[in-house]
Amino acid sequence: MSTPLLGILGGGQLGRMLALAAHPLGVRVRVWDPDPRCPAACAAEIFAQPLDATHAAAFADGLTACTYEFEHIPHAVVEALAVAGVPLRPSEPAFAAKHDRLREKELLSGLGISTAPFAAVDDEAQLRAASERLGLPLVLKSRRGGYDGKGQAVVRDQAGIVASLAKAGGRDVLAEAFIPFDRELSLVAARGTDGSFAAFPLVVNVHRDGILRLTTAPASHAPQAEAEAIMRRLMEHLAYVGVLAIEFFDVGGRLMVNEFAPRVHNSGHWTIEGAETSQFANHVRAVCGLPLGSPAARGHAAMLNYVGREADHAVVLAVAGAQLHTYGKAERPRRKLGHITVRSDDAASRDALVARLEPLAPWS
Ligand code: AMP
Repeated sequence: MSTPLLGILGGGQLGRMLALAAHPLGVRVRVWDPDPRCPAACAAEIFAQPLDATHAAAFADGLTACTYEFEHIPHAVVEALAVAGVPLRPSEPAFAAKHDRLREKELLSGLGISTAPFAAVDDEAQLRAASERLGLPLVLKSRRGGYDGKGQAVVRDQAGIVASLAKAGGRDVLAEAFIPFDRELSLVAARGTDGSFAAFPLVVNVHRDGILRLTTAPASHAPQAEAEAIMRRLMEHLAYVGVLAIEFFDVGGRLMVNEFAPRVHNSGHWTIEGAETSQFANHVRAVCGLPLGSPAARGHAAMLNYVGREADHAVVLAVAGAQLHTYGKAERPRRKLGHITVRSDDAASRDALVARLEPLAPWS
């Protein structure tokens, strides 16, 4: 049997954790990242060239399949990989919808999936009209390029319209009704080349400054069946292969989709220790055409991100049960540098561990 060689576009922490998960499965990894010392360099061969189509044939040489850790893949690279005969998984429709938040929302609502009511806004008059139709407050999001809360603003009253629109970029904005949710949940699931399906349990996410701070798994009293039905509808529509994450608002027990990510996701990092098979292993299995592993949770887990400054590794590791995942990245404000996972047989002892670790997980 020949050893599969998986290509990954992007060598950040997601590429690194995918590469680490690929090794024990007998899958070799080649990562395309312009930085030869990117986080994935510890676990993969790095193809250190700019991400443009002229290099695609050299990168594609010998690959079994190709996947990615981010959505902004130039169309010319997609075409060049196809010419080289390398399947890109998940395929282009899954990430093309993510290039524009309006297209993403239209895709979801076209499938009959509940989202926050929305409108496209390009100027002040359209924002005033949207505020009348959707009501206030409104959340404004730049249609392209925003992540981790960047390019977002909340319009609370008519007086704030001009300033909020400017904060969101002035034009090419998506306006959404503000959803007074009870909690934020997410579902991470994998779909294989044969249509096989494996969903992890729903988890609860807490954000700080627009960045994920804490994930606890599994979510209590969660509408798992409803979330899985939404996941399957979206995956089947996209003929999806790989791991997909959907972020939900839980509004009185009913789910509304906020957004999806066509890749492994920060709210699935807990699965490395907390599930029978991690999201990274199941993504590698899926995109390489291998059977999926069980997504069942092993008790109760939590994942705490740290950003901006490196954690004191020895202090974190001195807490019995704390598992450290550092990404090998330079310190920079608001940058995700690593995460800490804990696992317990019951939710109360898990939460007590989280309370001890909170002060040890920097945030700046
Ligand atoms: P996003 O970039 O769309 O993931 O938004 C970042 C965070 O802003 C979400 O995780 C929510 O906490 C909050 N948020 C986004 N959209 C809405 C909305 N329509 N109503 C209320 N809160 C929102």
